[in-house]
Amino acid sequence: MLVDGTTDRTLKMREYRRRYREHHRASIRAHMKIYWQQNKERLAKKEREKYYRNHEETKKYQREYARLWALYHHEKKLFALRRWREGNREQSRILAAQYKQANPERTKTHHKVGWAVKSGKIIRPSNCCACGLPGKIEAHHKDYFKPFEITWLCKKCHSMLRRIELEELK
Ligand SMILES: [Zn+2]
Repeated sequence: MLVDGTTDRTLKMREYRRRYREHHRASIRAHMKIYWQQNKERLAKKEREKYYRNHEETKKYQREYARLWALYHHEKKLFALRRWREGNREQSRILAAQYKQANPERTKTHHKVGWAVKSGKIIRPSNCCACGLPGKIEAHHKDYFKPFEITWLCKKCHSMLRRIELEELK
């Protein structure tokens, strides 16, 4: 028996059916063609109904798939970036300093949030607002001039959202 509870008999039957279909492929296809032509309307209606019944499910699945795809490729990009930083430490240090200098509000905002969390004025949640997973939660700012308009996100969701926002700015 397999892990999912499939018995040897089921497997044998499956194999038997597969072989039967393989052997009679041409005649099965011919039969199906005739059957389809005779019941065209009814079958088309059934298909349509099935499609609409599964429409929401399909859309949900596609959204989930797109999310995972983006996450996977984003991870790959992050990994490449990390590798580049490790190989170009001096240059990446300069770039980071330049970025800091070009965005003084960002540093200020981070200090403000850090201070507010430390003093208990605001509470850093233990779970990500987007995916709900626990972990190291970061403060995301859509606008650095509004330091207390915070979305609390995990590292993954945070960098994803930032990437999306940067793309929107383009
Ligand atoms: Zn998250």
